[in-house]
Amino acid sequence: MRLLIMGPPGAGKGTQAVNISKTLNIPHISTGDIFRENMKNETALGLEAKAFYDKGMYVPDEVTNRIVEDRLTWDDAKNGFLLDGYPRTIEQVNFLDQILAQKSQKIEKVLELTIDVPVVVARLLKRAQEQGRIDDTKEVITKRLEVYASSTAPLLTEYKNRSILIKVDGMGSVSEVEGKIKTALSV
Ligand code: AMP
Repeated sequence: MRLLIMGPPGAGKGTQAVNISKTLNIPHISTGDIFRENMKNETALGLEAKAFYDKGMYVPDEVTNRIVEDRLTWDDAKNGFLLDGYPRTIEQVNFLDQILAQKSQKIEKVLELTIDVPVVVARLLKRAQEQGRIDDTKEVITKRLEVYASSTAPLLTEYKNRSILIKVDGMGSVSEVEGKIKTALSV
């Protein structure tokens, strides 16, 4: 299955994505994780991404698209994948459509995790304490939520129009949300 998971920062996408990809036996591909790994290893990509990442801004589309294009050529992604945190702009949506179309493939389902903004802020501040993520300060969280609302939330309409959008309530415990996702995907 070729799947996307979307939702605001702090909706629990990463945690749920790990579980769903295990259940479906498909790779979990998170562009945020790829950037963090590259920043940790101080690669050229990591250094390029850092300036944007630290401010809660999106890394330019050319850079992000290149990474995803490469990752989708790996053997493990042949029969499906779960993309987490990509696409985030309309240009990324179009790019993804194009690279999949070249292989006669398309995105089959898009999971949207919904959550209340105050809950998101509280969750992200907690994660900042636990994991020390540099983009989880109150200022950067606010910026990331703004960028999500202006650049990424509109993409949901596109997937809704394609009749592949599935909304799942992201409130509740990890296992409750996981149960709701499995029901929604019929897995
Ligand atoms: P995430 O872990 O998905 O919340 O992503 C953390 C940060 O990585 C974002 O705030 C962006 O700086 C960068 N990033 C991740 N995915 C993308 C993307 N698809 N497009 C642009 N920037 C991204």
